[in-house]
Formats: sequence, structure tokens, C-alpha cells
Amino acid sequence: MTGNDKVTQDKVTLKDPRDQYPQPEFQKQDQELPGRTEEMKPVPDHGEQGYRGSGKLKGLSALVTGGDSGIGRAVALAYAREGADVAFTYLEEDDDAAETKRLVEEAGSRAVSIKMDQRNRDACYNAIQRCVDELGGLDILVNNAGYQMSYESLMDIPDEEISDIFSANIESFFFLSKGALKHLPAGGSIINTASIKAFEPSPNLAHYSATKAAILNFTLALAAEAIKQGVRVNAVAPGPVWTPLIPSTFPEDKVAGFGGNTLFKRPAQPAELAPVYVFLASPEASYVTGEVYGVTGGRQQI
Ligand code: NAD
Repeated sequence: MTGNDKVTQDKVTLKDPRDQYPQPEFQKQDQELPGRTEEMKPVPDHGEQGYRGSGKLKGLSALVTGGDSGIGRAVALAYAREGADVAFTYLEEDDDAAETKRLVEEAGSRAVSIKMDQRNRDACYNAIQRCVDELGGLDILVNNAGYQMSYESLMDIPDEEISDIFSANIESFFFLSKGALKHLPAGGSIINTASIKAFEPSPNLAHYSATKAAILNFTLALAAEAIKQGVRVNAVAPGPVWTPLIPSTFPEDKVAGFGGNTLFKRPAQPAELAPVYVFLASPEASYVTGEVYGVTGGRQQI
């Protein structure tokens, strides 16, 4: 088929994005960190029914951190349907990890599931090595895993948790990226999950917000370093996304109204994030590095 051939597919059906997915009020719900997908009401959409691949990442190998659930699961699923083999990490949610593995394999790709704690430096380097050993290489690193915890005020944030969140959310990005750069070929890429909180920090999430701002700063330095070997580095800054992170870190009232303050009056589903990660990893993004892509539901970022 040449670029000029007529594509024979069904006509695209346009939908109003405001009511394409559930809107608040959601049912009141509460979970322990790190949260489980199946306990969410409604269960998030990772693109199981909707994501159609077209070979954009065929034959490539990817490592997606935090791939058992939420944004990471949607990215793992989309990468697999685009033809990539996928290794993914997770902290402890074995049931969620088993489902992501099943979805990747169902797409005809190889899946490697790695249970690890990325607050541990050696665990970060080992995860890179396992991906290389078991998938035969590494072309794409998605630094996505992270956590948050909200408090009434900044003064309530426990001192120990401040160090802990920096270790989980940003120090690990250094170790995983350093490890990855030893293997990533020219044309490979790194994608870092930041947050709208990098631009709009709030006192109840002050420590989390600071790690997300650090991720953006790190993305720029890493982009300048990595291009010396032809590797691109970008960040994605999501707004509210319906994932297990939300009922396990916010009070029930906040969960019930989650995403209602966006222009769409609803949160994103993980499936709505994945196409941006596909684009950034694909050769089609050949002139894109050091950028931050917002997927915020229209909220002003600055
Ligand atoms: P999620 O709960 O589905 O995913 C979080 C992942 O991080 C899980 O897979 C968990 O196992 C992993 N993780 C947490 N601590 C870890 C540790 N110490 N070691 C290894 N893995 C660890 O939630 P999500 O919303 O999909 O989160 C993914 C990313 O998106 C996070 O970086 C989060 O900050 C970011 N984000 C989420 C939202 C949102 O509204 N959900 C908004 C902006 C940014």
C-alpha cells in the first residue's frame, strides 16, 4: 500500500468529549495505597475495547514503570497493540499486574512483569537489565510510576514522607534513565509522567507537586544529554485521571467530585492518555524533544 492509496476503514464517529466518559458525582469510595483497579467504581477504561493499533511501534521493546494499573496499564496496552514487546514494573499489586500481562500477551506481544520498589536504586538498575535480558533490548522507557498523598495542609505532611516521595517520584527517574541510556539506540526515547501539579502546586500536595516540577526540570536536562546519542526525552503532564491513585490518596468527598473542575467537567480515563505516549515514542515524533504535553481537560497550566 502506498501513501496515496485510499484507506478503506469505517468513517470516524465524532463524539462530544464532555460526555464520552463518566462524570462526577462518583460513588463515595476509599482504598489503601497503592489501590486496586477492580475496586474502583466505575472501573477505569484503559482502551481494552477502544484502542486499535496500526504497527507504530512494531518490533520495539519498551519498559513502562507503574504498568499494572492506571495510565501505565493504558500505555502498556497501547504499546502492545502497536506491536511492541512490553516490560512493566509495579510495587505490589499482583492481581492488577496479572491483568496487564494478560492484555499485552493477548495483543500478541511479549510481556515481562517486574515487581520492585523504585525507592531502591539497585532495583531500578535491575529492572532495566531484566528488560534488556528478557526482551533483547530497550527502545523506549516510560518513567510513569509514582505516588501522592494529600493532607489538610502543608504543615500536616509528615517529615519522613517528604524524603520518601522524592525518592519514589524523582530520584528513581535519575537511576532508571541513567540505566536506560546505556542501552537506548538512536531514535529511542524516554517519556516522563509529570502532572499539572508541576504548574499549579497546592499546599495539600506540596511534596508531590515539588517532585512533579522536578520531573519537568529533569526532562529538559536529560533531553540535552540524551540527544548526544540520538535519544529523545519528553514529559506528559496529566490533569485529573481516573486511576487507583485517586481513591487511595484523596478523601472520599474529593473522589466523588473528581475532575468536575475541568472544562470537560469530568476526569480523563487512562485510555485518553495513551495515544500521547504512543506518539512521543514513535518515529513520527522525530523532531520532538524536551517538550511537555498537557492532557488536562482544558485547565490552564500556568
Ligand atoms: P496508579 O495508581 O494506577 O499507578 C501508580 C503506579 O506507581 C502503580 O503501578 C504503583 O505500583 C507504582 N508505584 C508507586 N510507588 C512505587 C514504588 N515505590 N516503586 C515502584 N512502583 C511504585 O495511578 P496513575 O494515576 O496511573 O499514576 C501514574 C502516574 O501518573 C504517577 O506518576 C502519577 O503521579 C501521575 N499522575 C496521575 C494523575 C491522576 O489524576 N491520576 C494526575 C497527574 C499525574
